[in-house]
Amino acid sequence: MSQCLFCRIVAGEIPVDEVMRTDEVVAFRDIAPQAPVHVLVIPAKHYADALAISSSDPQLAGNLIKAATDVATAEGLAGGYRIVLNTGADGGQTVQHVHAHLLGGRAMKWPPG
Ligand code: 5GP
Ligand code: ZN
Repeated sequence: MSQCLFCRIVAGEIPVDEVMRTDEVVAFRDIAPQAPVHVLVIPAKHYADALAISSSDPQLAGNLIKAATDVATAEGLAGGYRIVLNTGADGGQTVQHVHAHLLGGRAMKWPPG
C-alpha cells in the first residue's frame, strides 16, 4: 500500500468528493476549502512536485492545467479563478504529490500570503 496520501486517494483507499476523473488526472474537493470552490487536481501517476512532473512529463503537466480549467468551467467560474501549485517548503507545499489548487467563487487578493 502506498504511503502517499494522494496516491491512496487515486486508488480509492481514502474517500473524497471527486468532481472529475480521467485515466491521467483526478480532481476532488479540498478537505479544508479556502474559497467557495476549492478543488485539487492531481495526476494519477505520482510526481513529487511541479519540477518533477514538468521535467519528466511536460505533456502531463500541461494536461493537469487543462483539467483544472475544465473543472473551473464545469464549476461555473466564468468570472475568473486562481490555479496554484505550491512547490517545496518555501512554497508551502504540505503534500508531496504534485497538485494544482483551483480556487474560485470569490475575488482573490494579491499578493498571496
Ligand atoms: P499544499 O499545502 O500541499 O499545497 O496542499 C495540500 C492540500 O491538501 C491542502 O489544501 C489540504 O487541505 C488538502 N488535503 C490534505 N489532506 C486531504 C485529504 O485527506 N482529503 C482532501 N480532500 N484534501 C486534503
Ligand atoms: Zn503520490
